[in-house]
Amino acid sequence: MSDLTLKDFEREALPTLTDYAAIPCLSPMFDAEWEKSGHISTATSLFVGWSTTRAFHSAKTQLHEIPGRTPVITVTVEATGPSIGTVVLYGHLDKQPPLGEWSEGLSPYCAVRRADRLYARGVADDGYAIFSALLALEALEANNIPHARCVVLIEASEESGSPDLEAYLDLLKDHLSNVELLICLDSGALTYDRLWVTTSLRGVLNAELTVQVLERGQHSGIASGVVPSSFRILRELLDRVEDVKTGDILLKEFQPTIPDEHVMAAKAVAGEFGDVSANELPTVDGLELMGNDAADRILRRTWFPTLSIVGMGGVPEPSIAGNVLRASTTAVLSLRLPPNVDSEKARAALREVLTTDVPSNAQVSYNDHAADGWVAPPLAPWLEKALHEASLNAFGNDVAFTGEGGSIPFLGSLAKRYPGVQFVATGVLGPGTNAHGIDEMLDLPTAVNVTNAVATIVAAHANNKKEKT
Ligand SMILES: [Zn+2]
Repeated sequence: MSDLTLKDFEREALPTLTDYAAIPCLSPMFDAEWEKSGHISTATSLFVGWSTTRAFHSAKTQLHEIPGRTPVITVTVEATGPSIGTVVLYGHLDKQPPLGEWSEGLSPYCAVRRADRLYARGVADDGYAIFSALLALEALEANNIPHARCVVLIEASEESGSPDLEAYLDLLKDHLSNVELLICLDSGALTYDRLWVTTSLRGVLNAELTVQVLERGQHSGIASGVVPSSFRILRELLDRVEDVKTGDILLKEFQPTIPDEHVMAAKAVAGEFGDVSANELPTVDGLELMGNDAADRILRRTWFPTLSIVGMGGVPEPSIAGNVLRASTTAVLSLRLPPNVDSEKARAALREVLTTDVPSNAQVSYNDHAADGWVAPPLAPWLEKALHEASLNAFGNDVAFTGEGGSIPFLGSLAKRYPGVQFVATGVLGPGTNAHGIDEMLDLPTAVNVTNAVATIVAAHANNKKEKT
């Protein structure tokens, strides 16, 4: 098969990907007014428009809209090979916010190319996915290589924990019909020299906790020493969740049982690739990292529960901070959950410790949202063979497997709906990609190589079916 080249990708995908980069289509969690602002709709129209121009023998692009929910695009490419069984290729078009000031010369909503890297919010997470998926299928058809029926599914609420996706999976139940293989193009890579396949993902639990002690702020010379500080009470509550010295999560509902093969795999990856969890992080000089060694850090990043405080409210900027006993303090909590922990049980346990027996009887308001992690089911022999072949063909190096520390709620949902489905979770989110951070970047040669690997995998799926029938 003649592979897709960087030139092909530049010609076919880059102009539209660059247009997409300019759209601030934030996930609904970061743009409550997303319906009014219309950015998600603009991005959706752009992708629908591009999809309908692609050269397939038989394909249909559809926009699905359930009122009040973010839309979903499907591009259904009919089989040119075995006609039973569907391959789903997944990506998302909603974005994280810019996070902060981007580096000199870069901007979240104006794509900048430096050498073979494209910088802008959302290009790697996960704008490239629809291009990769459809160009892979197009390459198969151009080379007369059979493929099964394929549905490219692009959703728009992933960065909010995919709250809208289940409703669409219900709506599209018959359309997706007999899913046999799911290729998720929203995952990570530890290096850019090979195909990385994800073996597990952590779950996620987001919560917003407000501790209130006063109706309004008071002169701290009058109220302090009498009214307890909302910040101190918040600290006490958080100490119930996390060991303040080690960062360990204390609640038993959050503790993983790590399968032996995942411990061994972490050791193997650390042995071959080094301290991959730490190498690329912009840590300050002299910072002591958590974890004993490279393997331990891989496990900590992929299998340990953690707490990050990702936002705070009720606290003024330093430049306008007066001597006031503030009325309330809000913390936004982001917890990552081990892949095999029940997120609903974890959620109930967290809610319990943060909202009961509150110190000084302060008022607490609380809301939360949770999603399960995911552990990849064992690979079918045909797929394992296809992954080796795909990586060798596309990258010139053998495939590698690792757990990821992030979350893709879709995989857990799909695994529950379609027991026995085969999964390939992969992607371009490698060193320096900065998804969710400033200076997000797509490594274009990697996008091309992943596209070629996807083509090989989809072809192998059809080939395996042919051999069986
Ligand atoms: Zn993503």
